[in-house]
Amino acid sequence: MEEWLKKVGTKQPVKADIGIIGGSGLYDASFLSNPREIWVTTPFGSPSDSVIVGELGGKKVAFLPRHARGHRIPPHKINYKANMYALKSLGVKLIISVSAVGSLREDYRPGDLVVPDQFIDMTKKREYTFFDGPRVAHVSMAKPFCEYLRHGLIKNGEELGVKIHGSGTYVCIEGPRFSTIAESRIYKEVFKADIIGMTLVPEVNLACELEMCYATLAMVTDYDVWAEKPVTADEVTRVMEENVEKAKKIIYSLIPKLNIVIPEEECSCCRSLETALL
Ligand SMILES: [Zn+2]
Repeated sequence: MEEWLKKVGTKQPVKADIGIIGGSGLYDASFLSNPREIWVTTPFGSPSDSVIVGELGGKKVAFLPRHARGHRIPPHKINYKANMYALKSLGVKLIISVSAVGSLREDYRPGDLVVPDQFIDMTKKREYTFFDGPRVAHVSMAKPFCEYLRHGLIKNGEELGVKIHGSGTYVCIEGPRFSTIAESRIYKEVFKADIIGMTLVPEVNLACELEMCYATLAMVTDYDVWAEKPVTADEVTRVMEENVEKAKKIIYSLIPKLNIVIPEEECSCCRSLETALL
């Protein structure tokens, strides 16, 4: 591990092993016992909100709402570097993030959950790396998500009887506007992407640069505009609420089962800088 990475967070008063990044609809940390609110400062500015550190099933967990409580920060204004650095500084090794997405295929229905295994980056203007020079790193994104966490999410979802898709390509757009029909059809028919959202990048690659395991639980809210199926705000709200309940069930039951030190054959996220540094 890099020397500067080893020093990150040595002065933090509390520690956590697992990080949960809440997305649209998931803002509160009431699932944690003995909660402590920590305002973390980072060399990259302030994270989206205070981090709540507490316990669940014997595990130490840090919760950070990506858009801040009350959904005040739009996707393109999130300080992703500060968010990921803040979690790293608290000692976090595994991150599960939650996000609402649109579906680009008929059989990924509103209300379903998806654990993506690939992404396509169509964002335009974000801070993508901690390595701005003189230290240079090119981390591998061939397999961008932690397979250990992905399998945990999928298995737990299936055990709970939730409709969960174990693979999918997430196309991340800049936002905050939604796609045109022409764009949506390109993502669907040319890119062959399965779901679309605005927040995965650069969260996923920054996690990798900090050698934290990362996986996303994506909640399908609607069919994107390719389908030309207009939905009402009421429908979207209803589906979102149901989705969030399912996502919470999966995550809360998974956390107690997670190993903090993952066997080498199950994932390589925590050694991602070994071959990345120039
Ligand atoms: Zn991993």
